[in-house]
Amino acid sequence: MSDNGLSFTLSTSPSQTGNNGESKHEKVIIIGSGPAGMTAALYTSRAKLNPLVIAGHEFGGQVALTYEIENYPGFPEGLSGQALVDLMQAQAERFGARFETFTAVTKVDFTSGRPFTIWADNGQTYTADAVIVTVGATPRHLNVPGEKEFTGRGVSYCGTCDGFFFRDKNVVVVGGGDSALEEGLFLTRFATRVDVMHRRNELRAGATLQQRALNHEQMSFTWDTVIDEIKGDDVVNAVTLRNVKTGETREYPTDGVFIFIGHDPNSDIFEGQLDRDEFGYVITDKLMRTNIEGVFAAGEVQDRIYRQVATSVGQGTAAAMSAERWLAEQE
Ligand code: NAP
Repeated sequence: MSDNGLSFTLSTSPSQTGNNGESKHEKVIIIGSGPAGMTAALYTSRAKLNPLVIAGHEFGGQVALTYEIENYPGFPEGLSGQALVDLMQAQAERFGARFETFTAVTKVDFTSGRPFTIWADNGQTYTADAVIVTVGATPRHLNVPGEKEFTGRGVSYCGTCDGFFFRDKNVVVVGGGDSALEEGLFLTRFATRVDVMHRRNELRAGATLQQRALNHEQMSFTWDTVIDEIKGDDVVNAVTLRNVKTGETREYPTDGVFIFIGHDPNSDIFEGQLDRDEFGYVITDKLMRTNIEGVFAAGEVQDRIYRQVATSVGQGTAAAMSAERWLAEQE
């Protein structure tokens, strides 16, 4: 008997047809293809568990959109996020990991007993003996007038993706964390001026990035300031700024607004299935176990604190090792 009172028999062969004749059975399913998912795929494939990765529609996750990664060990010259994703995928595939690309999970049933059931938007239903959730997080929105309307027409959440469209233009960056400064520095390659608007008078970003950004001749910083509205005609042409200390508002002309104010975990599909904290992060223990025995989670969907490629890789390793040990115990 399992801890939820349901008996559980492990299947011996992967990819066999499920009970309803339509679902595909897998020993291990990894949901998400960012660094945590890629690493979980590497470790579970090396453990001969023949994992299936349901990759989502943004293959590689947020890191795939990162122009340059300088703090992932082993690459002293740095490398692009896409290059790192390609290497991670190749390494996992070398040991037999399989990737279901252009496919996202729409629904899960972790609470009716095992095997677990997973529905995907390719029309396929899967069952799995163990699941590793690595679905990551999504950039947060400002939720001000004009933001939605001008997304893709001057409003962006990704400098690497859209910087090229702002050659010789002026852009505003919102936020005071690592992402805002890193992306702001990247945008100086294209934009003439990058004006960072931060709601406080102190940056949250790490010291190295701060030093580089504060000393960059194309960058400027406006403190204690938020954006109340994004304006334009066809495309963005101004923002309404408000000083949070004085309450004073003013219109500020700009060609683009890049928003980097943090992320929210992509955990909505697990509502009612997995325990989550007040911010929506999936709750795990030190062994990366969720509240459901046999379901593990790793990376930014459960990590509100570190959110680094290196920490996600470590958490993916831990989740895979825990899943492997747990599966062995069931046999
Ligand atoms: P973050 O560290 O949470 O910073 C978000 C920033 O946006 C903060 O400065 C915050 O202001 C501001 N903010 C939040 N909500 C806002 C709102 N509604 N209006 C205006 N400003 C708002 O997020 P992040 O920069 O995306 O970084 C997330 C994590 O990834 C961090 O742990 C970071 O270290 C890591 N990261 C690391 C690197 C790197 O090492 N190279 C690169 C990117 C990200 P307050 O400061 O006032 O809270």
